[in-house]
Amino acid sequence: MLKLAEIFYSLQGESTFVGLPCIFIRLAGCNLRCSYCDTKYAYLVKFQMNNDEILQKVQQYEPVKLVEITGGEPLVQVEVYHLIQKLHSQNYKILLETNGTLLLKQVPDYVHKIVDIKCPGSGEAGSFKEENLQFLRKNRDEIKFVLSGRDDYEFARRKISEYNLRGYKILFSTVFGKLQPARLAKWIIEDKLPVRLQLQLHKYIWSPDKKGV
Ligand code: SF4
Repeated sequence: MLKLAEIFYSLQGESTFVGLPCIFIRLAGCNLRCSYCDTKYAYLVKFQMNNDEILQKVQQYEPVKLVEITGGEPLVQVEVYHLIQKLHSQNYKILLETNGTLLLKQVPDYVHKIVDIKCPGSGEAGSFKEENLQFLRKNRDEIKFVLSGRDDYEFARRKISEYNLRGYKILFSTVFGKLQPARLAKWIIEDKLPVRLQLQLHKYIWSPDKKGV
């Protein structure tokens, strides 16, 4: 059984898949407590389902074949690997959004990974497991920095060179309401950084606090 916070269908609000219809499976529980966390409700278990029940729910949204497994931190529950296999066997394209602190070794290669490197503004800097870089595929998997201000921006810029991240898909996202996208855009343009500015699309379409979108 997996512990869940919600399953819903909406538009993908982040990553290079932004804007596409997508089914979200939000698992409950997280090993971090980021200052800006906008899914605190996922710390607690809302309901439980086995893999067949989850698949049944996901199949209600056919012909959509794009699924994101997120949290919380989805890799906290080891049963998630069975869910991944099950979804793959039914030809779903699987996105996995993970906070980068747990080993990705067991995550199958066919999963499209979106991995955080936490910045100081989150209160969880230093949590990224550097050895995870060997399990990420350049030109496909995505590395995300969520930035609260200039200090975070400088931190992220240093990490790009320290970890030699050029060639990966790098996302720079703002903490909504804290860092103005226009400021971040200006910095990226000035520094000619090989990164993609990411806004959380769902927060602009719907209310920033709205759940299940
Ligand atoms: S890793 Fe994600 S879910 Fe966990 S505390 Fe940080 S922002 Fe919230």
